[in-house]
Amino acid sequence: MQHEAELLDCLIVGGGAAGLTSAVYLGRYKRKALILDAGGSRLQRIPRTRNVPGFPEGVEGPELLARMREHAARYGVATERVTVQRIERLPDGTFRAEAEARSWRARFVILATGACDVEPEIEGIQAATRAGQVRYCPVCDGYETQGQRVAVLGRAGHGVRESLFVANFGNQVTWLAMATQHEVPLTELAQLRDAGVRIAESPPHRIECGVDGVGVRVELQNGQVLAFDTLYPALGLHHACELATALGAQAADNGQLRVDAHQQTSVDGLYVAGDVAVDLNQIAVAAGHAAIAATAIHNRL
Ligand SMILES: Cc1cc2nc3c(=O)[nH]c(=O)nc-3n(C[C@H](O)[C@H](O)[C@H](O)COP(=O)(O)OP(=O)(O)OC[C@H]3O[C@@H](n4cnc5c(N)ncnc54)[C@H](O)[C@@H]3O)c2cc1C
Repeated sequence: MQHEAELLDCLIVGGGAAGLTSAVYLGRYKRKALILDAGGSRLQRIPRTRNVPGFPEGVEGPELLARMREHAARYGVATERVTVQRIERLPDGTFRAEAEARSWRARFVILATGACDVEPEIEGIQAATRAGQVRYCPVCDGYETQGQRVAVLGRAGHGVRESLFVANFGNQVTWLAMATQHEVPLTELAQLRDAGVRIAESPPHRIECGVDGVGVRVELQNGQVLAFDTLYPALGLHHACELATALGAQAADNGQLRVDAHQQTSVDGLYVAGDVAVDLNQIAVAAGHAAIAATAIHNRL
C-alpha cells in the first residue's frame, strides 16, 4: 500500500455538487484538501436544470459539473479518480481512506458520496432520461410537466405522495400503483381523487420509451395501453452512507445520516454534505451543506 506522505487538512470523498463546493471553500480558506471521486455524479444525468440560481436559461448537468470541477481546481484542490473502499480512524485521531491499494490521511473528512435512484426496468430508459421523458425529481422539474400526461410509478406511500406532488403542476397524472392501491387509506384515496389523479386499472406489464413516436408507452397486465409524455419513477433512493456507518456514524432506517447544525455526524471530525445526508436532493442544498461543513472544519483547524 502506498505510504501516506502528507497529512491533509481534509479529505473530500465524492466529487459531485457537494464535494466540489466543499473544495472551493476549503481551497479559498487555503487548506490542504483533496477530492477522491468515483466519477458517478448525478449531475451527469440532468438534461438541463432550471432551478440553479444564476442560470435563468438553465444549464446542462454535465456542463455545470465541468464548471464546478474547474472552480475547485482554480483554488488548488485536485481530484483523484478512485472509489474509496474504507475509511478508518487511526489511534492519533486522524482518518485514513483506502482505495485501490493506495491510502490518504487527513484530520477531517467530508463525505459527499451522494445517493442513487432505484431505477425501474424500462426499455430505452437511459435515452428517455436524457430526453426528459423519464424524470426522477419533481421538485427539480415538475414545472416542465405543465399540460402534459404524466405517469408516476411507485408503491403505496411514496407513489401516492409523489402523485399528489406532481399533480400540483397543471398536468394530468396517472398513478401506476403496482397493485398496491388497496393498501392506501381512504383519506389518501380521496386526496388523489380531489387532485384529479387517475389510478391505472391494473399493474404495468411493460414500459417502453421512445417507441413509435410515443414518449412513454405503458402496457398494463389487463392489455390496456396508455401513453404519457413523462414518467416519474418513485421507487426510492439509496443514500451512499456505508463508509460513514462503518465508522460508527448514526443513520436513520433509510440510510440518511444524522448530523448536527454544522453537518457533523455522530463521529467527531466526520462531516457529510449533499444527497447522502438529506431527502431534499438538490444542488442548492448540496452547496449549502458544503459551505457549512467546510467552514466548520476550517474553524477547527
Ligand atoms: C435526472 C436528474 C435530474 C436532476 N435535476 C436536478 C435539478 O434540476 N435541480 C437540482 O437542484 N437537482 C437536480 N437533481 C439532483 C442533483 O443531481 C443532486 O441533488 C446533486 O447532484 C447532489 O450532489 P452530491 O454531491 O450530493 O451527489 P452527486 O453529485 O451524485 O456526487 C456524488 C459523488 O460521489 C461519488 N462517490 C460515491 N461513492 C464514492 C466512493 N466510495 N468513493 C469515491 N467517490 C464516491 C460518486 O461517484 C459521485 O461522483 C437531479 C438528479 C437527477 C438524477
